[in-house]
Amino acid sequence: MNKLLEALKGVGTVAITGHVNPDGDCIGSCMGMYLYLRDNYPQLQVDVYLKDVREVFSYIQGMDQVKENFELGDKYDLLLLFDVSSKDRICVSQEIMNAAKHTVCVDHHVTNSGLGDDNVICPEASSTAEVLFGLLEEEKISKAAAEALYTGIIHDTGMFRHPGTSAETMRIAGVLMDKGIDFSRIVDESFYTRTYRQNQIMGRTILESIMLLDGRCIVGVVSQRVMEFYGVTPKDLDGIVDQLRITRGVEVAIFLYAVGTQQFKVSMRSNGEVNVSEIAQAFGGGGHVQAAGCTMQGSFYDVVNNLTGPIERQLREKKQ
Ligand code: AMP
Ligand code: MN
Ligand code: MN
Repeated sequence: MNKLLEALKGVGTVAITGHVNPDGDCIGSCMGMYLYLRDNYPQLQVDVYLKDVREVFSYIQGMDQVKENFELGDKYDLLLLFDVSSKDRICVSQEIMNAAKHTVCVDHHVTNSGLGDDNVICPEASSTAEVLFGLLEEEKISKAAAEALYTGIIHDTGMFRHPGTSAETMRIAGVLMDKGIDFSRIVDESFYTRTYRQNQIMGRTILESIMLLDGRCIVGVVSQRVMEFYGVTPKDLDGIVDQLRITRGVEVAIFLYAVGTQQFKVSMRSNGEVNVSEIAQAFGGGGHVQAAGCTMQGSFYDVVNNLTGPIERQLREKKQ
């Protein structure tokens, strides 16, 4: 028996959470686990804590049960962390770590040094949802849980395109399909459907984007003023960096949005030549080789200069 199922023995209350600004993999893993427990361990009391979940994931069952606030004093026998690489990235409240007798962390970030009492970290896996699938009993996964896990996998693989995608990823996707999930709808709802405002701000950002390093780097930025003008929040900016990345000739796409005065949230995507995780880590962030992020101080120009320096160096080294 694996560490996750082992940890469920003799437990009455379980809390589940993921990382800040939860993405499809984080949400899919948390909800996949929640639904699996709901379906197979009905005696357990299970709470999922997630904040800032984008509306597009509301097709996942049980999203209406998700708690946005953690009350100090709440106690759990077991805490399950999904897709979280370090304590400071825990969604809702880091205090939740102190509220549980035992913590199990399931993840696929290389940078995760093991923040649970027990850890299942597989850096070679495409997604946390894939790691989680490997820990569950296949025949006990319901259609609802399968929809959540499938969401996790397609989001972290960029629909089976990222290099982490393996034959095993495809096999798992096949098993989940056989549970009868509406995979077309999941893809449409969670990837393609955008509100008019989201499309507008994406269009404007691309229109105003700049090309640097001989067209090998593209930069897009959204100021607080523009976000206010369109009435959008950071959640509405998802997908912009991915659209920038597919510009022909581009190796690295950088997308910034203001989170305060002289402070930007940075998202980077690479087409393979550049390890953006290394660059994000140098500025206190992290992520994966081809998708990483961090928060940086300074003017737009300072931030861009600080990022293009190491990008240019990596591109030059690659050439030699
Ligand atoms: P994002 O650009 O925010 O979509 O993030 C891309 C990847 O980088 C995800 O796997 C995140 O988990 C990771 N990431 C983003 N921001 C940070 C950060 N500040 N610290 C560590 N990892 C991050
Ligand atoms: Mn994630
Ligand atoms: Mn992930």
